[in-house]
Amino acid sequence: MTPAESPEAGPSQAALEAAVQRSADTYDAVIIGAGPAGLNAALVLGGARRRVLLLDGGPPRNARAQAAHGVFTRDCTPPTDLKRIGLEQLAPYDVTVRPEAARQVREFREGFGVQLATEWVTARRVLFASGVQDVLPHISGLKERWGRTVHHCPYCDGWPNREAALAVLGSHQEGHHLALSMQNWTDHLTLLTDGPDELTPEQRRDLARLNITLDTRPILRLSGEDALTVHFHGGDTLALEGMFLNPTQGQRSHLPAALGLEMDAKMRVMVNEHGMTSLRGVWAAGDMTGAPQYVMSAAASGMVAAVSLNSTLIHEDVREFGAAFHESPDEAPGVGEA
Ligand SMILES: Cc1cc2nc3c(=O)[nH]c(=O)nc-3n(C[C@H](O)[C@H](O)[C@H](O)COP(=O)(O)OP(=O)(O)OC[C@H]3O[C@@H](n4cnc5c(N)ncnc54)[C@H](O)[C@@H]3O)c2cc1C
Repeated sequence: MTPAESPEAGPSQAALEAAVQRSADTYDAVIIGAGPAGLNAALVLGGARRRVLLLDGGPPRNARAQAAHGVFTRDCTPPTDLKRIGLEQLAPYDVTVRPEAARQVREFREGFGVQLATEWVTARRVLFASGVQDVLPHISGLKERWGRTVHHCPYCDGWPNREAALAVLGSHQEGHHLALSMQNWTDHLTLLTDGPDELTPEQRRDLARLNITLDTRPILRLSGEDALTVHFHGGDTLALEGMFLNPTQGQRSHLPAALGLEMDAKMRVMVNEHGMTSLRGVWAAGDMTGAPQYVMSAAASGMVAAVSLNSTLIHEDVREFGAAFHESPDEAPGVGEA
């Protein structure tokens, strides 16, 4: 749970209804999260002439990185600039951006109530784009270097570190996999296991064949600003230019779980190909869904979810006039029902 999210004690249904009746703010959609997925969903829904509330609860996941790579037409742009441009381009549309976190989401009559810091608002649909939280290993000095000299994704930070002296941190299958994946970016690669490893003889042989050094010394701390020094227990050091690792992850927001959205074994919100979750009226997009974790994929999944969400609004609207129309996406089997 992000600190800003902490919900007040849940109101009774009657109190919720009274609070919502006092509020004039009913939106076609509330989007929770203003990273690439939420910003692109807002752009698409705004362009579809929907009344949208975009809740911006904090910085995107890559905020600590100096530049985002692999971003079509905007390669090497700082993430803060991507966000600024994304927000600026919402200006022509009926999209309200509020710099605050959603605290609770409740099903309410035909739609949803969303609790903000001082009020509840209602929406016909909800789109979660609240991202994931990276859970980093407890090594002194590592957290401070995350996104600077400690990275997780070679497609994001491999190119600026090409031919550099790099280490992969990881003692299991994942460390072996990441080390092998990185051999095309540099020939100066060490696999640091921070103590006894759990590698198989075959995995050790792979490392040897690719000239990847295996170093099992337990790590005390990391230091350095532009470069990176690994300090081992016992006083030895290793000079590097960067390190890559595979962090474990959890949901950034507690709200998807609180709303009972179905999750997979890795606690990612399950969605169908339209971004629809297990709860009718709720979509999810971006990293939180298990989509490939890149800026472009998050933005693309935000678009797919927004289009699907909008098409269910179109169905709802035209059916009020008795129009015969093809099946709405939310009438197809949902997540877990197929
Ligand atoms: C260090 C680092 C570097 C990276 N570099 C690259 C790169 O070079 N290229 C690339 O393609 N990808 C890169 N990535 C991956 C990329 O950052 C993610 O794939 C992308 O940000 C996912 O977008 P998203 O919209 O799903 O989630 P996020 O960007 O995480 O955005 C989610 C947003 O939701 C907000 N939020 C959470 N809860 C609430 C709430 N209750 N109410 C309101 N708002 C809420 C969060 O504050 C956040 O702003 C990098 C990741 C990291 C960690």
